[in-house]
Amino acid sequence: MRLVDFHCHLDLYPEFETLVAESERLGIFTLAVTTTPKAWARNNKLASSTKYVRTALGLHPQLVAERWREIDLWERLLDETRYVGEVGLDAGPRYYSSMDRQTEIFRRVLRCCAQAGGKILSIHSVRAAPKVLDLIEEEVPNGRAKFVLHWFTGSAADARRAADLGCYFSVNSQMLQTDRGRALVSSLPVERLLTETDGPFTSDGDRPARPRDVATAVRQLATARGISIEDGAETILRNLKTLTA
Ligand SMILES: [Zn+2]
Repeated sequence: MRLVDFHCHLDLYPEFETLVAESERLGIFTLAVTTTPKAWARNNKLASSTKYVRTALGLHPQLVAERWREIDLWERLLDETRYVGEVGLDAGPRYYSSMDRQTEIFRRVLRCCAQAGGKILSIHSVRAAPKVLDLIEEEVPNGRAKFVLHWFTGSAADARRAADLGCYFSVNSQMLQTDRGRALVSSLPVERLLTETDGPFTSDGDRPARPRDVATAVRQLATARGISIEDGAETILRNLKTLTA
């Protein structure tokens, strides 16, 4: 079974290099997202000789309050990559106070991506799905970039709006553990579904999830949609190919 982990923080595991090698050996398409553009160089060096691991250039919304000045570095590096993430907005209680700054930075990220063309973004949208979609509509004219909403927790109406805007959704096993999450995932267009671990921020058993554990999400997703695991895995791989074509 060919697996896709479209959102994993490989550089936050002590065994970073081992995990890059493991994804490559097992043929798991892994998008290594980063939280600061300062992490780009090392991530990209490790991934550049692989067939299956790709690095995304990020500036995490939860770090924007302290690190917003790194947007200049982010912008300088943008030409080097097709993948962008983790970027987005977080309006949860801990980060709400930086929403103005987050909005300014995310707007700039979107504007740069629209200008460059051809980028694929992995987007964080905690308690901010409508705002994220507003900014996408305002800043990115049709087709100038593609969007993957990671660990989407918005409403069913937000999800429909996102799907109408062409967004994909990367779904992890933790989302599929609640009735609400399963109902949401069942309502998404099947051709927009991808899988992720968001490791090491999720766990598989008693340890942080690693890319190979994305098999759990595939299994749960297939169950939620009433299809076989093989069909689920094939669908996700096909969606990845369409996204990256
Ligand atoms: Zn993440």
